[in-house]
Amino acid sequence: MKKVVLLDGYIDEPSCLGVSPYISPQVRYVYGALLLAGLKEEQIHYLTADQAREFLPGGDWLIVIGGTTVPGRYLGGKPLTLKEMEIMALENTSEDKWLLGPVVEAGLRPPGYDNYIGEEIIQGIMGRLGEPREFSIELLKEVALRGAGLIIRHPRFPYVVAELETYRGCLRSSHCSFCSERFRRFRYVRPAEDVIREAVELGKRGARYFRLGCQPDLLSYADGRKNTLRRLYSGIREGVPGLKVLHLDNVEPGALAGRKDAAELLGIITRFNTPGDIASFGLESADPEVIRANNIGVTPEQCKKAVELVNKIGGERENGLPKLLPGLNFLHGLQGESEKTRELNLGFLRELVEEGFLLRRINIRQVIAHAGYKKKAVTKGAFERYKETINREINRPMLEKVFPRGLVFQEVIPEKVEGNLTFGRFLGTYPVRIGIPGQKELYQPLRVKIIDHGFRSLTGIQYPFNINQAEREELLALPGVGKKRAAEIILQRPFTDLGDMRKRLEKELVEKIEVIIDCF
Ligand code: SF4
Repeated sequence: MKKVVLLDGYIDEPSCLGVSPYISPQVRYVYGALLLAGLKEEQIHYLTADQAREFLPGGDWLIVIGGTTVPGRYLGGKPLTLKEMEIMALENTSEDKWLLGPVVEAGLRPPGYDNYIGEEIIQGIMGRLGEPREFSIELLKEVALRGAGLIIRHPRFPYVVAELETYRGCLRSSHCSFCSERFRRFRYVRPAEDVIREAVELGKRGARYFRLGCQPDLLSYADGRKNTLRRLYSGIREGVPGLKVLHLDNVEPGALAGRKDAAELLGIITRFNTPGDIASFGLESADPEVIRANNIGVTPEQCKKAVELVNKIGGERENGLPKLLPGLNFLHGLQGESEKTRELNLGFLRELVEEGFLLRRINIRQVIAHAGYKKKAVTKGAFERYKETINREINRPMLEKVFPRGLVFQEVIPEKVEGNLTFGRFLGTYPVRIGIPGQKELYQPLRVKIIDHGFRSLTGIQYPFNINQAEREELLALPGVGKKRAAEIILQRPFTDLGDMRKRLEKELVEKIEVIIDCF
């Protein structure tokens, strides 16, 4: 084998995210398996979906890993579509072409590939290279450690979040009928020491951003293994001293509400995590009929109890951000859904707001129908109005409370420029989109101060904000400043200090903007 082209088409599944700026464990495992089977680093050409759209080289073996089995909107990278997978296979000159990952697990087979492998990716790769190995936790540890080096080859490195896997497969005995987790044949639990060693290995390569995101319910990881969660968190913190982010993803609210040790486990998380973290709850629906029809394992009452617990234990702020807040996922297009479902969901959210709970994010999605699941039609107009109501009544007020005006993010990564506006996000779990006036250099971190709130996004300006040096676009983003007032500020500056500014600008304008100004 002379040259392997490893194409990270990005994955997104219920329990795992690998869309840039995230790098999935699975693609790192593939890289690790190639090395373990004897290939040299220089024989492997790694590239992402975004890079492959520009140019996809040929080789002896093309390996594409991809598949999004949950709906998502992405800013940092665009996953390969089925059509793109097909076209790339047909146009690529590699002798052998393999497609791996969730796309295959979901039963899809875009033409053009010689082999399709779902879950058995490690064994498949090893076997092809003449090093057949049965799957074992020991083998997984070896490939995870070897695969850690892939992170430095990611085009966004060092601003990449390493998704870490603790276990695989949903632990519920009967699964939600719409979820792809029920198809998993491979189920395993990784020892905490293995996950810690992988994080340390990633840390040695310069990784600083981590998410324990690859499992359906992180708290279940602690089941029957006293102190496992504490060992996992403390081990990662000790082993990666320069770590900047340690977040988590899914927590099952029904299980959380029923746990006697819930407060203790949440206490461990909030002691070792970094601020801005989210326990993402898949309530999916507050309608008992939908819950029953889809075998969803949580009721609104249990979910509310879980929201309350996380608020109580995780609501304290560090560097201006709550340590851990709940996120809520709702799914539409589910069996049993009716017009009443939207009312019940909305009623549930209003109840949480009235009782003063904070939610860090509300995700309203439509189900992706696969493997025989029959999606119910969603009326477009009614669905859009429902989302608008949630945005207006719940999302914006919640953003104002969680990220108050004046909050400073120490590291926002600009990811896209549109006209005179740059969009960036902080690295971590479910980062909120921040619009920054002006054209900023992509992928160069900025300090940003929040000055306004949209329905699902924030507006911020570069911090510290110097009114004497601010660009016109930045002035226009200030509250109460239109074209006329921006021109007046430009005409009157430089100001020596606040007193000078008060003398030379109208009182009403100064009152609006003085809290935003950091220096002259
Ligand atoms: S609880 Fe339901 S939605 Fe969550 S991973 Fe398990 S089967 Fe999927």
